[in-house]
Amino acid sequence: MNKRILSILVTLLCLFSLCACDELFGAESQSGTVSGRLEVHFLDVGQADSALLLCDGESLLIDGGNSEDSSLLYSYLRNHGVKRLDCIIATHPHEDHVGGIIGALSYVNEVGTVYSPVAEDGNYFFNRMASKLKDFGVSVTVPSVGDRFRLGEAEVVFLGPVELKDDVNQNSLVCKVNYGEVSFLFTGDAERPAEKKMLETGEDLSATVLKVGHHGSASSTCYEFLRAVNPSYAVISCERNNSYGHPDDGLLSRLKDEGAEILRTDRSGHIVFTTDGAVLSVETEKEASSAVSADETGEDGEPYMYVGNISSKKYHRPDCSGLPSEKNTVYFYSLEEAIGAGFTPCGLCKPE
Ligand SMILES: [Zn+2]
Ligand SMILES: [Zn+2]
Repeated sequence: MNKRILSILVTLLCLFSLCACDELFGAESQSGTVSGRLEVHFLDVGQADSALLLCDGESLLIDGGNSEDSSLLYSYLRNHGVKRLDCIIATHPHEDHVGGIIGALSYVNEVGTVYSPVAEDGNYFFNRMASKLKDFGVSVTVPSVGDRFRLGEAEVVFLGPVELKDDVNQNSLVCKVNYGEVSFLFTGDAERPAEKKMLETGEDLSATVLKVGHHGSASSTCYEFLRAVNPSYAVISCERNNSYGHPDDGLLSRLKDEGAEILRTDRSGHIVFTTDGAVLSVETEKEASSAVSADETGEDGEPYMYVGNISSKKYHRPDCSGLPSEKNTVYFYSLEEAIGAGFTPCGLCKPE
């Protein structure tokens, strides 16, 4: 695989400051000395969102892309030897965030805690995830702002949603991951109203890397929020030539004005940050649009065993001539799973 490597010492300034004025760095917000390493993988899941964090032997999945990304999630975890997910954060129950989590759950043996802004939702893909979680004996936990947990030596703290609104995107779980002097802020699909509420709390929103809200839409990442975050890097998860026009031109110029280096999954593929808590490096897949060719097989040739049609509730063999449109498609890794989800076999391809 061709790779482009950028390696930047983002924290030199911080280290100088630390020497000069120790008292500015309270023990509360900084995790102090860390001895291992944190990897943050922003997966190229097209017009969707997914990040896998690996820290000191522990793992956290933040969103899982669309249902059609299930195979990619499955392969990615397998290729990285992740048989246990210590934590899953489903930022909000939209398909492009929770749909592909099923692929991850089809691979792992164990799941720790699963966070979501709601315990129940009418969304098909959310329910599918929740019912698969029952096999692991896990139910969804709804965190409060300020709740925190450890991922290895990293600290994860929830910063939003501050106030629940009548809009699923605004209710996205927002969390910050601190590892030594380096931090990452994940915003799901939160937009301006949610950003304003977070600003009002006076919490420390600053982060070295910002996962830009809502795939780079115009309605997210307002100047005020951006100034509070003050990121060195801004990661945008979107699909090449997507119909939404993401990322928005105005947003790109806001990010440039603030001096953030912009990384986009539509151009760079998977984007992987690695840090020891002081030095941060980033590695990206080179531009390779031909690599994005999801059909019946995943990136690694991992077969979808059964293809379900959400509206007819039939499941098919992947080579059936009567496959549903992408919008109505779900993938199953076993017959058991398809039947368990209430699907019946297609009379044409007779899957068994
Ligand atoms: Zn989204
Ligand atoms: Zn959304």
